[in-house]
Amino acid sequence: MPRNRPLEVIVARSAGTCFGVEAAIDMAEREKKPILGPLVHNPLVVANLAAAGIPILERYQDLDTLAGQVEEVVITAHGYPKQLKAALQERGITYHDATCPVLLKWVYSKIERFEEMGYTILLVGNPNHAEIIASRSYGTHIHVIYSEDDCDALPPISGPTVALCQTTIAREKFERLVDYLREHRFSDLKAVDTRCKPVKSQQEAVENLAQWVDAMLIVGGFESSNTTNLARISERYLPHRTYHIDSAASIDPAWFERVNNLGIGAGTSTPQHQIQQVERRLEELFPGQILIHRTARHDDEAEDASSEI
Ligand code: SF4
Repeated sequence: MPRNRPLEVIVARSAGTCFGVEAAIDMAEREKKPILGPLVHNPLVVANLAAAGIPILERYQDLDTLAGQVEEVVITAHGYPKQLKAALQERGITYHDATCPVLLKWVYSKIERFEEMGYTILLVGNPNHAEIIASRSYGTHIHVIYSEDDCDALPPISGPTVALCQTTIAREKFERLVDYLREHRFSDLKAVDTRCKPVKSQQEAVENLAQWVDAMLIVGGFESSNTTNLARISERYLPHRTYHIDSAASIDPAWFERVNNLGIGAGTSTPQHQIQQVERRLEELFPGQILIHRTARHDDEAEDASSEI
């Protein structure tokens, strides 16, 4: 399809899989044992593992029944509740733990440390997400909230309170709920932004790009919380020109009429080869008229990126 001028494509800094997801995929491919739940919220990755003969089991199921079926399982990067890990061991099921180091080293320890100091923890995140289900198991005085209604429904709490968040939540949502809690319930609420570094980098990169390109493609699974958040961030600046796709085949060339600069963002569960498929599809659609720019990744190390807000 001829164009009047080349389409400049800018791939957002840090787009694609993070160290936590890459390590989980490596472990799953190495161990080749059944996985407790989808390894990542990306249908392509899950289909590739299934094609390699690796079963994906129900994440939360009757463990006595499970013990009769398997001897070893893999726990996904999202983590698994502390009590259920113990229950697996009690039933003689060995687990290979791909829980992300960010959760193991920093999120769970913060929950435990704040509790030791007498705080009640308000964990801001999706109550049905595997990461939150696992994280809340590390506290006893802990409440999960995901909306203003959840804040209003909290029981009376005395003593100090601290808000922590899901590693993949949108910054704007966490800050909004912290402001609401401070205004309506806990004026001296302490709040620690526990988003991980790859998520922070991706959110910042998409926000920066979406402000000056003409259209954005966000690549990744529709079930992926962090990919969906990237699409929402982009939509703030490009409400009619943000396209969330989970496959290169969904690209419609009509999207790029009067588009000179196209940004690409991708969530932490989107493999690099899926981003490359998107680039190849654009080259097929506009042969010789695509200029692709990439910026270096600089968040490949697991580190505590939390900060007080
Ligand atoms: S998104 Fe963050 S917390 Fe989740 S696996 Fe990746 S690095 Fe770990």
